[in-house]
Amino acid sequence: MYREYDECRICPRDCGTNRNGGKKGLCGETSALRISWAGLHFGEEPPVTGSGGSGTVFVTGCNLRCKFCQNWQISQEGMGLAVTEAGFADICLALEREGAENINIVTGSHAIPAIASGLRHARGQGLTLPILWNSSSYEKPEALGLLEGLVSVWLPDLKTLNPELSEGVFHARDYPRSAKKALRYMAGQSPLSIEPPTETRPSGRISSGMIVRHLVLPNRLADTELVLQWYAERLAGKALLSLMTQYTPVTHSPRGREIDAFPNRLIDRPEADRLQVLLERYGIEDGFYQELVEDTSWLPDFTKTQPFSSSLARPVWHWQSGFIERKE
Ligand code: SF4
Repeated sequence: MYREYDECRICPRDCGTNRNGGKKGLCGETSALRISWAGLHFGEEPPVTGSGGSGTVFVTGCNLRCKFCQNWQISQEGMGLAVTEAGFADICLALEREGAENINIVTGSHAIPAIASGLRHARGQGLTLPILWNSSSYEKPEALGLLEGLVSVWLPDLKTLNPELSEGVFHARDYPRSAKKALRYMAGQSPLSIEPPTETRPSGRISSGMIVRHLVLPNRLADTELVLQWYAERLAGKALLSLMTQYTPVTHSPRGREIDAFPNRLIDRPEADRLQVLLERYGIEDGFYQELVEDTSWLPDFTKTQPFSSSLARPVWHWQSGFIERKE
């Protein structure tokens, strides 16, 4: 029981749901902390993946619920299993034993009180890895404050600064204002620090700081330009930018079929070329740029213990199977 859940106003949805009373908020979750999958992930930015892989923990539910979410089965369809504080800590400790470089909490904005307690429990049980907060940025600084002293690396999305697009794809016209506040809070928390490359870890390893992710949407480069301009003015030098071009249509998901704000196709080569021009225009040099995706086969399927391709991830825990024995 966490008192913040009595009349939940943890996130900017401010829906006031009594989650402790068993009701589900707009995030789709009661006060129970549910986890969908945990494992080593090798597809994050190089200093996040390192050599051992990032220890990702995918939280069930989401307060933003993007229509184009690739993880819709867990963010919107509820695939997940409730865990106790101790159970959450056991998952983190298992990831550390398996060689993870860090603990990477994916989409936990609606469950901050429970996750903060779980992380404290894990620390008490011997967890030493740096903790990453991987979120949509649709968050309140007061709620993020509950993670103080626990999280040292922030991996926030900055999805758009266009209120009409936010309304159309997240039903959250206030996303730009809320996300900017959240990012300013995060930037003030942890100075950027990347351990230098070594022979075993040629990409170095991030131990503190912020990587701002932006997913480019088809036919919406004007929106991307707004994001790049704001980033260059407010955050350049304090963070790294990760420009992602992996947008993939999810027309098989119920909400994926509703998208009418942009065409449901992959990012094309002329758009990728224009992105390079924008990066130069705003003088953004520090960060990561994703190669163009050419097929849709990489989309995860969380009904399987291995939702990703086996080169991309190694499962450690699954919502239906629990801990997964490693096959040598
Ligand atoms: S976290 Fe969930 S229940 Fe709480 S305010 Fe946000 S949407 Fe509502």
